[in-house]
Amino acid sequence: MVVIKCAGEIVTASVGRIADTGKVLEVEVPPRSPDLLIPFVNKRRGSALAEAAQTVSHALQGRAVININSTARGGGVAELVQGLCGYAKGAGVESRWLVIDGDSEFFRITKRIHNNLHGEKGDGGPLGEAERGHYERVMAENVATISAKVRTGDIVILHDPQTAGLAAAMLQAGARVIWRSHIGHERHDELVNTAWEFLRPYIQQADFCIFSLAEYAPAWLDSAAVRVINPSIDPSSAKNEALGLDAARDILAQVGLLDAAPVTAPSFRREDGSQAPFIHRVEALTDGALPRPDDPVVVQIARWDALKDMAGVMRAFTRMEHAPADAHLFLVGPSTSGVADDPEAGVVLAECTAQWRALPDAIRHRVHLVSVPMDDREENAAIINAIQSHATVIVQKSLAEGFGLTVTEAMWKGKPIVASAVGGIRQQIIDGQSGILLPDPWDEAACGQAIGKLLTNPTWAAELGAAARERARELFLPDRHLLQYAQLILETMPEAA
Ligand code: UDP
Repeated sequence: MVVIKCAGEIVTASVGRIADTGKVLEVEVPPRSPDLLIPFVNKRRGSALAEAAQTVSHALQGRAVININSTARGGGVAELVQGLCGYAKGAGVESRWLVIDGDSEFFRITKRIHNNLHGEKGDGGPLGEAERGHYERVMAENVATISAKVRTGDIVILHDPQTAGLAAAMLQAGARVIWRSHIGHERHDELVNTAWEFLRPYIQQADFCIFSLAEYAPAWLDSAAVRVINPSIDPSSAKNEALGLDAARDILAQVGLLDAAPVTAPSFRREDGSQAPFIHRVEALTDGALPRPDDPVVVQIARWDALKDMAGVMRAFTRMEHAPADAHLFLVGPSTSGVADDPEAGVVLAECTAQWRALPDAIRHRVHLVSVPMDDREENAAIINAIQSHATVIVQKSLAEGFGLTVTEAMWKGKPIVASAVGGIRQQIIDGQSGILLPDPWDEAACGQAIGKLLTNPTWAAELGAAARERARELFLPDRHLLQYAQLILETMPEAA
């Protein structure tokens, strides 16, 4: 289990809303041997990683790589930091993970920046001097605790807008600073530019800035300081390890998502190697009838965020023509009390619920809104894995997407995917080869048609899924990601070259 240290005390991962505890948190990530990756890549890739880790650890001379973000669970960033931090530690590179604190106004402002950077208005509020004042006050409140944990020569990786304002203080503490943006938009219109201008005084100070796509970088950033690094997924984690069909069914039956009893009591493997039973059940808004084990299931997994367009997936599915009459839809997100930095989640879920209630009876009983408890991160990951592994078709109909780890996860599970051709999804799926891309993310009819085609053509669907898995193996596993980090860390230390 992940243990979260809070100002020296140990707080377990079962804490509800972490950011309300009023303190900077240190998440203790257990080391993971990079050898765990060898079965999924090959010896050559494994050796290249071991060699790079040795070079970095030698250059760091005991100094640390410190990741700082705004939530210990829920969403792609926490997922990434967890995996990479573990492998870096396992490879002998001292790596740590700190989580900042903020009040609800701070997260409202940073969510606005997030939405604007994706080209969306969000709550439509301003990003002016009052917002900057509040943002900087919260940053200042975090600085004292964080600076005490940073030593001269450490490499600090700040993730996303929530932590950009720490750059100056980290430099002052003697660290080399990398700011990493997991979001962005190819089109730099007025809205997007306003959000970048808000961040400009902070991120311009970083030694390097990382973007998931080259087009996301604002033009005023010195191109010599810009790097493009795609995210990755961990194939040996509870989220992505291979689950047999029967194991996935038993988990779904156990947590309350299938009309069946588990054949054997399912359990999941924790990072410390122990087996644990599934304690929590999902909160599913269903109309009585859960799918039977052999019914086709269409799935979208995402935070309850307007840009993920869960409501649009529901409309696409319910208006789909020629769909098999036994197909079900799962719209799956984290339990809304579980993600600290996402103030919109409750509203989005409430809107989806209202839309679901208004569906005609016959279709409503095949649509299920599922909230997965976040109390135990590893249990949550195992449930998500089971849902993805059981899915017949996986959808990611995002209106905007920084990268889209849920797409990578679905690719790795060899699933046929229907996804919008936006942001990082375009980088991942080759249309017609490793999935189906929707040119217009708003086109619900096209989305429904693509889902229907995959449901009715299992041979083709399996071919797309198999190609997706090979593409994920080649491009989106942690060894490639860690090699790019290693190279950048060495660049921040010209004296070590
Ligand atoms: N996720 C999860 N539980 C949920 C919903 C999402 O663990 O109930 C995970 C999902 O599997 C993925 C991450 O959260 O690893 C979402 O990352 P993505 O890049 O798709 O989107 P983001 O949330 O960062 O916008």
